[in-house]
Amino acid sequence: MPDTSLAAPPAALRLAIDCAALRGNWQALDRLSGVARAGAAVKADAYGVGAAVAVPELLAAGCRDFFVAHPGEAGEIAALVDPACVSVLHGPLRDEDAAWLRTLGVKPVINSLAQARRWIAAGGGRCDLMVDTGINRLGLPVAELGDEAVRALKIDVLLSHLASAEEASPLNALQLARWQEACAQVPHARASLANSAGIALGPDYHGALTRPGLALYGGIPCESLAGAIRPVVQPQAAIMQVRTIAAGDSVGYNATFTARHAMRVGTIALGYADGYLRCWSGTGVMEGGGRQMPVLGRVSMDMTVIDLTAAPELGEGDWVTAQYHLPDAAVASGLSQYELLTLLGRRFGR
Ligand SMILES: *Cc1c(COP(=O)(O)O)cnc(C)c1O
Repeated sequence: MPDTSLAAPPAALRLAIDCAALRGNWQALDRLSGVARAGAAVKADAYGVGAAVAVPELLAAGCRDFFVAHPGEAGEIAALVDPACVSVLHGPLRDEDAAWLRTLGVKPVINSLAQARRWIAAGGGRCDLMVDTGINRLGLPVAELGDEAVRALKIDVLLSHLASAEEASPLNALQLARWQEACAQVPHARASLANSAGIALGPDYHGALTRPGLALYGGIPCESLAGAIRPVVQPQAAIMQVRTIAAGDSVGYNATFTARHAMRVGTIALGYADGYLRCWSGTGVMEGGGRQMPVLGRVSMDMTVIDLTAAPELGEGDWVTAQYHLPDAAVASGLSQYELLTLLGRRFGR
């Protein structure tokens, strides 16, 4: 039997994470939140950045409130921060969820009267309450807030979520009014409405706690945040093999690139299974040593071929960095900045 306790060598692909930029982004969003304090959405492994890296940085920056989506995500975060400051957005769907969240000592976000009753029946304790003010996704409608199950809850954060915060939509003011109505009706310790883009809507939207996610990780949901937010994530991969191809040779699946002249190409350990999607076939660009190296042909599952003509000094084992500036990459790929982050795969060293 091999000794599987030995650590595997580091992967030939890694996410370079600018921890100072991550901390700086939280601090900028906290300042922009005025008298409110900024928390952090760290669901989906901190938007693909890696919660094990991101959460300690956010904590060091001053963040205290952390939001995950699934009960199954709460354990990892609760081991890194005060569990009483972790909120689980999906709430207790089943009795076993309620029991699990109580065991961890984290807060469920109660989304329905059934969840409120389930939480109380499980023993209750501090929780958050989501009010649906117009996104029609999760949360109690304002009309149900008078129910006795709501009155029995010990509510820390009373929250709602904006549907169109990054747009000048009439829905924003409507949701604001309904959220204020809910806050007046239900006793709670802290009110919360704004996600990243909501912070830019101004103080009326801030309450006591804001909940940025995307902008922490370098996403820019609206122009007014562009000056405050720095990029955080850069996918990087090592060159595994270099070859010289002749005029007429093709590269990759389906031979979608054909060389017009002899050229030096490199194969890197980054593919669509890592979230470097096939939309970058023939359009993506890698950088290294100040040079730009276009992607040639199709992106494969585990590798991508790049043109090394501009970088004759690069060879096997050298690292290159994918151009992945989120707002630009979203325009180029037709994907949202949220997707571009959360699809970054598990094989990256972080
Ligand atoms: C994901 C999420 C956030 C963060 O939103 P961003 O647009 O990424 O800033 C805030 N609140 C809730 C309820 C969420 O689900």
